[in-house]
Amino acid sequence: MLCEGEFEPMEKIRVDILIIGMGAAGQFAALNAYDSNPDLNILIVTKDLRGKGGCSRMVQGGFNAVLNPEDSHEKHLIDTLKGGHFLNDQDLAKTLVEQATPTIKEMETKYGCFFDRNPDGTIHQKPFAGQSFDRTVHKGDLTGIEIISRTTEQVYKRDIPILEEYRALDLLKDASGKEVTGALLLDVRRGSFMVVEAALTLVASGGGTTNYRFFAPGPPKTLDGLGMLYRAGVWMRDMEMVQFHPTGLIIPGSVVAGALLEEGLRGVGAYMINRDGERYMARYDPERMERTTRDIMSQSSYLEIREGRGCDHGGINIIASHLGAEFVEKNFPGMCERCATFGHDLAREPVPVSPSAHYMMGGAAFDTECRTSLERLFVAGEDSGGTHGANRLGGNGICDSCVFGRQAGKALAKYFRKDGGIPESDSGQIDHLISRYTRPFDRSSGALPFEPRDRLRELNWTKVGVVRTGTGLQEASEQIESIHSEAERVKLQGSRAYNMAWGDWISLLNMLDSSRMTIHSALLRKETRGAHFREDYPKRDDNYGLFNIFGKKGDDGKPVFEKRPVVLKYMKPSDVGE
Ligand SMILES: Cc1cc2nc3c(=O)[nH]c(=O)nc-3n(C[C@H](O)[C@H](O)[C@H](O)COP(=O)(O)OP(=O)(O)OC[C@H]3O[C@@H](n4cnc5c(N)ncnc54)[C@H](O)[C@@H]3O)c2cc1C
Repeated sequence: MLCEGEFEPMEKIRVDILIIGMGAAGQFAALNAYDSNPDLNILIVTKDLRGKGGCSRMVQGGFNAVLNPEDSHEKHLIDTLKGGHFLNDQDLAKTLVEQATPTIKEMETKYGCFFDRNPDGTIHQKPFAGQSFDRTVHKGDLTGIEIISRTTEQVYKRDIPILEEYRALDLLKDASGKEVTGALLLDVRRGSFMVVEAALTLVASGGGTTNYRFFAPGPPKTLDGLGMLYRAGVWMRDMEMVQFHPTGLIIPGSVVAGALLEEGLRGVGAYMINRDGERYMARYDPERMERTTRDIMSQSSYLEIREGRGCDHGGINIIASHLGAEFVEKNFPGMCERCATFGHDLAREPVPVSPSAHYMMGGAAFDTECRTSLERLFVAGEDSGGTHGANRLGGNGICDSCVFGRQAGKALAKYFRKDGGIPESDSGQIDHLISRYTRPFDRSSGALPFEPRDRLRELNWTKVGVVRTGTGLQEASEQIESIHSEAERVKLQGSRAYNMAWGDWISLLNMLDSSRMTIHSALLRKETRGAHFREDYPKRDDNYGLFNIFGKKGDDGKPVFEKRPVVLKYMKPSDVGE
């Protein structure tokens, strides 16, 4: 273990392909790159333990794929574009739905995943909100464990090297700043730095959303990829689009607050009530009630709570007991167990829930081969933006990570050139980064990072959350700078090895960079669309113009933004009666 003030000499390694993240996107990329060319020298880096961490493992509901002859890719595409309020990149959405079918088949035949069956032996597919056909493939309500366990075995089988508990801090570039040459890593166990240089780099670190008071992912998902991509100057898009899941568990004082009760529960008839016992969805969406889309459900619940009709625990209640205890326990065992851990009996009693920050629709702009705006840099999974537009459908998230992880793996193998070399990393950048990341250890005074992190979460929850206004966003844009200044004054001490406060400070820097992009993009969109609900512009306005907000770090270090019209390549709203 290192003592205060000591740093080990820095290790430097070179590989053909560096994959940052070991969720579905990272693993599918590694497997497909390897299977395309087993001679590739691939390295997977994960900040958690191998096979653990990330959201893919947490997937309860399932994976959308067209398998039934009565369903079609066109129907899945229409659902995805309608769900995304037509802000989606249509090429990405089309690739998602078309490639989901071979991907799910490969998962069973190549990787050994085994999903729930119908009595006739075909794969069972269940309903999810916003779908015109029941197409969600699942393994009970623990689908992610099946996917990640089986694909991790396949990574082992191919002997693909993994660095676990190594955290990517920043992307490295050559002196021109145009080509990515790998990443600077922190060896979390020893508290030392490592440089990995790679001919091609994939960022697949799983997006957000732990920068809000209630969040659905595990606490380690701290927006690292989004922060890194932004700081590297990659074009990002749709960063105002943050999805809130309607039913996150309220668990006072626990880091698990916001953990999800998946929407399959509402799909089979669970309903929501406010403090007066009223089924309030009758006022917001009388036709679809609780089977409405996530955005409308979350906004309705948030407004109920804000208008004083929330329950004493600060949220609203979900009721499943009328479905029959046996039915609920049989069909939702994972959720029943999770509720029981916190003293709630989902099968028999109301359970307290709140909207919970769930998914980033925004992220790095990319193409169907997962290429970004920087040379040699690829992105896949929740760090990418554009596929889901203004709102992601349930079941399209894990599908995205598997499909685009697969696309990325094939593309990495295709674009790798043995004779292409790796450009020289800018040594000045490496020195600068190490000095930046160690600076808090040199300070003689300063606070710990926890308070500014919690203030950021509150700021995002109240002003950049489920319901937004221009005034609130403007205030947020000012207040985030004071939190940023506080983060710059943090003092750290003790051993570098497994230094949790250091880790939290690094997380805070990433949360700040990503949150700033969200605030400014949200200010620029003066309409309500999907997950972006502006109370001062409460209606979706197609006459306002269909555009995406692209942003990146400008030359002066501040974000710059561009509005670009949506390319309605395959479908426009009027084609589907909107
Ligand atoms: C509770 C929950 C339930 C969900 N249920 C569903 C569902 O039913 N259906 C659906 O479609 N979607 C669902 N989703 C969404 C879905 O899980 C995600 O969209 C998807 O799994 C993201 O995959 P990913 O590979 O991009 O990232 P992840 O699976 O999150 O993996 C990220 C990886 O990156 C690593 N990492 C992070 N930062 C760093 C760093 N700095 N350096 C190195 N490694 C790093 C992590 O350790 C992890 O290995 C759910 C999400 C949650 C939170």
